[in-house]
Amino acid sequence: MTLDDLAGRTRPLAEPGLPVLRLDRDDEVAGVVAWFGEDRARRGVHLIVRGEDAGCLFRTDLYDLMGTRSMGFGDSARTILPGASTAWRTLELECPEPGCAESPLYALSFNPAAPPHCRLHPERALAPR
Ligand SMILES: [Zn+2]
Repeated sequence: MTLDDLAGRTRPLAEPGLPVLRLDRDDEVAGVVAWFGEDRARRGVHLIVRGEDAGCLFRTDLYDLMGTRSMGFGDSARTILPGASTAWRTLELECPEPGCAESPLYALSFNPAAPPHCRLHPERALAPR
């Protein structure tokens, strides 16, 4: 799944105050699952995909995206979880503009040499909190 696939499954933002998560690379899609997994109380997220408002995604939407497969008795014996651990760590970034509506926001990657810029204040670079 790519970021575009994910952005195609979001809903229009109808609920103010959702945490904001910024995604910039396709390999960060798996990190969305990790982000929800970090805190069971997280019900939904406002996604910023490559600097564009992509609407929101709720935990229940994620379950639909993941898909499930029914297994029979004993199917789990001697199996390991599929895939490699991605060990995602959520970063909290903030816009230096006082009172910015999209600050703080979460991100799954940060390059200090080329920091992302605030969507609402494009002239301001985001920085770790
Ligand atoms: Zn801002």
